Amino acid sequence: MNSYAVTEKNSRARAIAEPKSPLRNDFQRDRDRIIHSAAFRRLMYKTQVFVNHEGDMFRTRLSHSLEVAQISRGISRSMEINEDLAETIALAHDLGHTPFGHAGQDALNHCMKNYGGFEHNLQSLRVVDLLEKRYANFDGLNLTFESREGILKHCSLKNARLLGELGQRFIEKKQTSLEAQVVDLSDAIAYNMHDLDDGYRSNILDLDSLNEIEFFSECHDEVVSSGLIKDQQIVVNETIRLMTYRLIDDVTKTSLELIKTNKISDIKDVRNFGKNLVQFSEPLDIKLKGCQKKLRESLYTHNRIEMMSKKAHSVIESLFNYYINKTELVPDNYLIADNIERSVADYIAGMTDRFALKIFETIEK
Ligand code: MG
Repeated sequence: MNSYAVTEKNSRARAIAEPKSPLRNDFQRDRDRIIHSAAFRRLMYKTQVFVNHEGDMFRTRLSHSLEVAQISRGISRSMEINEDLAETIALAHDLGHTPFGHAGQDALNHCMKNYGGFEHNLQSLRVVDLLEKRYANFDGLNLTFESREGILKHCSLKNARLLGELGQRFIEKKQTSLEAQVVDLSDAIAYNMHDLDDGYRSNILDLDSLNEIEFFSECHDEVVSSGLIKDQQIVVNETIRLMTYRLIDDVTKTSLELIKTNKISDIKDVRNFGKNLVQFSEPLDIKLKGCQKKLRESLYTHNRIEMMSKKAHSVIESLFNYYINKTELVPDNYLIADNIERSVADYIAGMTDRFALKIFETIEK
């Protein structure tokens, strides 16, 4: 591994010391704890963009997280940094997501507006630090500092002050590890690329509208110019595959170049560098933004998705009001927050789409 990678040696370790495993390094252990967690299993039934029951072919939070992990590992391997840590952060990065995707989070944030708000990023940390109950000696998963730090991608200054050592970097304006930075951009690569794919297969985005994206159309022309592929779905697959490759290749080369020119030699240099070292080149950054713009205009705001968002709002609000008045129905393991509103939010955030809908239907009866 390169000298600027996070290692067991330079790690700030776990909050509660544990004996070393003879078989796995600390970051592999973190990863395994995440995979064994209940919150991770529930990602299978949580919306990414399309609600779970819209169809079995679309991405869920779980398949999204696996794609992010896959991309993060590939980039980390090429950069010779800590692949295990990157994988861990990627698998955990969306653990705090509510049912029904971003609409669910907005609704829960609205319900919690007088009680400290709700933010999925902070919630992911809450899941691994507190809400998972599996081990005799501690609540949560007792992950290493670096895994926890990577999960907390952003955070308000107000919340940072409550987080002690982990919040320090937001106050001091320092950077996170390269591994966490890799996951952040891998997340962007994964969701942009798979949303184009899901958008196409859902018939919301047709080939003409995909070709309005400059990056797509360039890669599409390259794929078509071979003259070999007749099937349109395969052409789209190959185009997205080529785009994904270009993004991964670009971020790897650009970041390694930045590290070299700025003579970054250890994790301290990474943290003290004024901005992220893992970056796309400017041309690719512009191209990716072009994809984002199109997805915003044509997919995320499409009728079918908006209808789901509206429904999500009423489901979450109604669950919230229901449990606030019937706190005896909130399972004991959630009744650990400072106030009942937070306990209810923790419980609702942990629900899968289908479980939330099932409860909603019984309340409405
Ligand atoms: Mg994500």
